[in-house]
Amino acid sequence: MPEVEITARRLSAGVAGARVESALAPGLVALKTFDPPLDALAGGELDGVRRIGKMLAVEAGDLTLLVHLMSAGRLQLFDERASLRDRASRILVRLVDGRELRLREFGTQQRAWAKLLSADAVAGDEAVATLGPDAYPPPPGDELAKLLGQPRHLHPLLRDQRTIAGIGRSWVDELLWTARLSPFQKGSELDGDEVEALHTAMDEVLGGAIAHYEDVVGDTIPDKMPMPLQVHRRAGEECPRCGARIEAIHFKDYVMCYCPEEQTGGRVLKDRRLSRLLK
Ligand SMILES: [Zn+2]
Repeated sequence: MPEVEITARRLSAGVAGARVESALAPGLVALKTFDPPLDALAGGELDGVRRIGKMLAVEAGDLTLLVHLMSAGRLQLFDERASLRDRASRILVRLVDGRELRLREFGTQQRAWAKLLSADAVAGDEAVATLGPDAYPPPPGDELAKLLGQPRHLHPLLRDQRTIAGIGRSWVDELLWTARLSPFQKGSELDGDEVEALHTAMDEVLGGAIAHYEDVVGDTIPDKMPMPLQVHRRAGEECPRCGARIEAIHFKDYVMCYCPEEQTGGRVLKDRRLSRLLK
């Protein structure tokens, strides 16, 4: 979420008032809608870009281009147009002033997507209508307790956009570490102090990351965000708070990192990848 928020803020400042010359989708699979056609953006003026959960909404009068970057996508503004041979390009919105708003995706998988919707259809779109309340600023403590009161582990629960919107695989590790909670504790088993700790963590960690990006990200959104992470992707390093070794559990497409000393009562949890290999 903090990466999407700073992207929305920088792009919005950059594109507001710019007129669209044409729009095309070289990565055909990225565009999930066909009516209205993408080129309906041509001739319109961009009002700005806002964040909805982990998505970006590029607003242009009565049209909205809703974009989900997934894990490897970037929406960036360039001074010059891309070569059509740039294989990372998914969607190009060419501006009359020569600049180009470009959805790119790195890596081999094509997961990032966009939908061109009429502005009044955005709230009802399935990707938006199913979102829970936004994670930042966090909902009040009692509402948060109600949202999380489900018999599911905190790690998947906090990443479930229908429960609460905006938390991804990196920040969930940071939130749980900051709140000193086990990723395997169940939401329905949180006591009042633990909900409060999580509430404070959401405020500090997500708010802190946005403030950090406000400081270090210039007008141009970099390919790689300078994420201020303390535990995520830091397995094997020392916990910055207590010095214990940060452990990791590998899942099929993500890694969960935690401090055993402070989050799991000293227990190192089984790495499912390792245990599968040892069978
Ligand atoms: Zn620690």
